Amino acid sequence: MRQTASARTRTHRTLRPYAIGLVVVTAAIIGPLVHQSASSSAPSFGEVRRGHHAGATTEVDGAVTEADGVLPDGVTVFDDQYPGVANLDPDLLHAMREAATDAADDGIEFSLRSGWRSPEYQNQLLREAVAEYGSEEEAARWVATADTSAHVSGDAVDIEHFDATAWLSEHGAEYGLCQIYRNESWHYELRQEAIDRGCPRMYADPTHDPRMQQ
Ligand SMILES: [Zn+2]
Repeated sequence: MRQTASARTRTHRTLRPYAIGLVVVTAAIIGPLVHQSASSSAPSFGEVRRGHHAGATTEVDGAVTEADGVLPDGVTVFDDQYPGVANLDPDLLHAMREAATDAADDGIEFSLRSGWRSPEYQNQLLREAVAEYGSEEEAARWVATADTSAHVSGDAVDIEHFDATAWLSEHGAEYGLCQIYRNESWHYELRQEAIDRGCPRMYADPTHDPRMQQ
């Protein structure tokens, strides 16, 4: 009895410093992660999101609405009351939902910055990008025309938050979900063959994509 009690005390005493150490270490690990996910994106994303996504709020000039695919903050791939989600290609949406369900097991939630867009919405984004970048040539590195955009055909999604894009860059190919452009870590499309063969080589930016040469 005595021995057990004293052993317990000893255990208790020796455990405490470890417990405190663990808290400190945990805070040290979680702190930067929280900070990272709160700022939600790498600097390169922040730099371009104004041009690429400026139309994603309804305030812009009232020209486009949710019916054009504008999404409010925090919309997930399961929120198909929004045309921006509901009008996506069904196979892409299915793959995104499977991936989102598995990512949720890892504590990661996918929200969509953008999905399907009407031609009007895409044109507005392009006008804004031309204004921002000063030329159609430079804007083309970030925003496609309504005729060429994979968003207008419902074949592309832009994912928010670094933790979600990091998860997809690691696991996306298993679902056929691939990053297409090296300069757009958030832009994903369905490439079914990736499930067997892995994702195809990325284009440096959309201007290198043959689909954009129309
Ligand atoms: Zn995109």
